[in-house]
Amino acid sequence: MKLNIDLSALHRAVAPLGKIVTDFSIKSLSGGWIDIGEHLKSGMILGKDIQLDDIDGSEGILHYNGHQVMLYIPDQGTFINQALADGKQKGAKRVHVAECKTIIGMRERGRFNDRYDVINRMDGFFPVFGSEYHSHETINGEAELAVCQNCLALLNHKNFSNLDWGDKAKLVDGFSYANFFETYSSYFKSLPKSTVALQSSSYTPDWPVISSKLRSELNYTCEQCGVNLTKKTKLLHIHHINGNKADNSRKNLRALCADCHKKQPHHGHLYVSNEDTLKINECRREQHKFDVFNYNNIVKYTDSALEGLVLKCQTSALPGPELGIVINDGGEFISIDLCWPRRKVAVLINMTTSHVLRKHGWSVFSAFDALSNFPEFQAKIR
Ligand SMILES: [Zn+2]
Ligand SMILES: [Zn+2]
Ligand SMILES: [Zn+2]
Repeated sequence: MKLNIDLSALHRAVAPLGKIVTDFSIKSLSGGWIDIGEHLKSGMILGKDIQLDDIDGSEGILHYNGHQVMLYIPDQGTFINQALADGKQKGAKRVHVAECKTIIGMRERGRFNDRYDVINRMDGFFPVFGSEYHSHETINGEAELAVCQNCLALLNHKNFSNLDWGDKAKLVDGFSYANFFETYSSYFKSLPKSTVALQSSSYTPDWPVISSKLRSELNYTCEQCGVNLTKKTKLLHIHHINGNKADNSRKNLRALCADCHKKQPHHGHLYVSNEDTLKINECRREQHKFDVFNYNNIVKYTDSALEGLVLKCQTSALPGPELGIVINDGGEFISIDLCWPRRKVAVLINMTTSHVLRKHGWSVFSAFDALSNFPEFQAKIR
């Protein structure tokens, strides 16, 4: 397979912004993976470097070629100085993180009037430009732009739709793009490098011995949720409570399943695949952790990418979903993220198995389908 990517537009566009353009690196194509992460960090121009049709919003969040992305207008016009001083104030452009009505409108019209950049930078700052009001001089810089509220409402991110005006403003003000990317990481095969890099750390040479001894002593049981992982020992981690990887005293160590570990403070960067989360919930279910229904537990134990939907179900007082259910399809086992078994309604993150469930008479929704067609979805459950 040969890939031709015309980057001349990108090079022309970034040159006036004073950016350093490195050579485009294309890794092994046999792996089917192109490293465009670096380019996405500085922004690529929509309609030139990347086409709108190549940005997928079918799962609600926007992604391009396996990378989660945002879209925004870098040109702040004569508002540039104000945007640089405080990019969150009214008048500055917003950053789209989901398939909101702005993006849908662009798709429907097949065009957009402004220049949009596609980026996946997570520190909250975005390259912007504009022209100074009096001198008309072009100004470049980086502004701390706020996230688009329609995008958050669409995903019901952190129960956004049900918050009052003040709490919405608070959520937008304290919004972390890094945290947002981590919440929906189950949809992606690749996390932005800056988050992955945090995982490298300084373990002591005897760490493998200490870790495996403790896990075996605890009979591979998570000290937080109590799940036993004898069947999947790799999913039991040892966590350093104070963050110091050299402090291996017993009081600083805690055995945690991958899911509980990921949910520790400052651990969002710890990537746990949807498959592993499903496996842990299967074990929890088998071990009767879900026998007593409690919505707060569902919110806690479901994949974070489904949190917005679960909160919407809770607010709407829907009967609660089940976690960890597995369907046997002639010896092949299909694990379901969330379901209402008596109604045969399922929600999946990875939709590739949806046809198997449908064959067995299930209604299958993605979280985005369920949220955007909520009346239809809830009618199936009530
Ligand atoms: Zn938006
Ligand atoms: Zn656990
Ligand atoms: Zn840890």
